[in-house]
Amino acid sequence: MAMLPEVFRHIFKKRATLMYPFRDREKIPVPEGLRGKMSFNRELCIGCGLCARFCPSGAAKLVEDDKGKRPIFYIDQCLFCAQCEEVCPRKAITLTREFEVAGFNRSNLVVK
Ligand code: SF4
Ligand code: SF4
Repeated sequence: MAMLPEVFRHIFKKRATLMYPFRDREKIPVPEGLRGKMSFNRELCIGCGLCARFCPSGAAKLVEDDKGKRPIFYIDQCLFCAQCEEVCPRKAITLTREFEVAGFNRSNLVVK
């Protein structure tokens, strides 16, 4: 019985939880400085390979394409440590605040 006043007090309060991921996506508070999915600017890249060399998880791999050697980032292996961003001499890599990186298809988890 002692619980009832407490229950009624909370019934009319604004709820503290969000209906994420089905609703309220835009209300998710993404903290400043969150290290999420990287964006990669191919035009700036010179193919030095430092990102791949310093990547601790093997998520950044250097591959040959029409422009020479360029990295590919496999998000499903990424630790979001930002080492690649730090070592890139051309500032071609930026870790964004995008945190929704789950998927059903591995090909969607590649940044190139
Ligand atoms: S953030 Fe870290 S783990 Fe992810 S690709 Fe860059 S260096 Fe590798
Ligand atoms: S470190 Fe930067 S410039 Fe070097 S290969 Fe990686 S993305 Fe390109």
